[in-house]
Amino acid sequence: MIYIGNHVSVSKGYLAMGKHELSLGGNTFAFFPRNPRGGKSKTVSDEDVSALRQFVADNDFGKLVVHGAYTMNICAAKEEVRANSREMLRDDLLRLQALSGNFYNFHPGCHVGQGTETAVSQIAGALAEVINEVEELSNTPLQNRILLETMAGKGSEVGSSFEELKEIIEQTVSLAGEAVRPKLGVCLDTCHVWDAGYDIKNDLDGVLEKFDSIIGLDNLCAVHLNDSKNDCGSHKDRHEKLGLGIIGADALKNVVLHPLLKNRPFILETPNDDSGYKAEIQTVKDWMNELIFER
Ligand code: ZN
Ligand code: FE
Ligand code: FE
Repeated sequence: MIYIGNHVSVSKGYLAMGKHELSLGGNTFAFFPRNPRGGKSKTVSDEDVSALRQFVADNDFGKLVVHGAYTMNICAAKEEVRANSREMLRDDLLRLQALSGNFYNFHPGCHVGQGTETAVSQIAGALAEVINEVEELSNTPLQNRILLETMAGKGSEVGSSFEELKEIIEQTVSLAGEAVRPKLGVCLDTCHVWDAGYDIKNDLDGVLEKFDSIIGLDNLCAVHLNDSKNDCGSHKDRHEKLGLGIIGADALKNVVLHPLLKNRPFILETPNDDSGYKAEIQTVKDWMNELIFER
């Protein structure tokens, strides 16, 4: 089964997102629970959330990949920004308790001159604390798995190497205990890993092997499927439409069809409008059908 979808807007509510994605041919999607640049999240009714849950179940959707705001930086140098970001994270996770069984991915953050080591411990500290608070406030275990996104390494971004992501996970576990381990995972962004210097075009197997030996492929829970405008190792983070970038269609097709990435939700974050997304979703489905036909 292939789960493919794109980012949709939350502005018309939760059920509306499911319906919209279905109209584009997708069977998973991503959304920002609040304005992607930060700000207040939309107030949602419990009925709307349950209606979406029913809708995705009825239509055999894969897990959804909710995206934390870009402005959230839990390892910011400024205490005030860190505190606000932590609050945003807690608020998102708390709100999403009702939409259980899905993923919540976010960018680990930018260390803004503090250095990676300090940032990693701030991120782990925030995660451990926020998970604990969410569970206490909602009186239930965390309902959605939190995914750290692989980053391109633009500016002072943390999380552009598998080792850094592993370190965040391990430090969170050492603060919050082993019980937190299955609550954490990674979302692999194809544009970002490529820009960070992992050559998924010429050595996808090698990159996945490396991921497996450092983080473990069980923890690779979702994929952001993007082409890149720049070269491997460029640290730029500029997404391109599938097949129009430097990674190219063949390499992205190999990612989608890789047996070790089976059943993961693939989310398009390509520069497209609805008709563009519809076409890319169809392209990905065609790749899948070709594979079935070849067998
Ligand atoms: Zn992202
Ligand atoms: Fe991404
Ligand atoms: Fe990006």
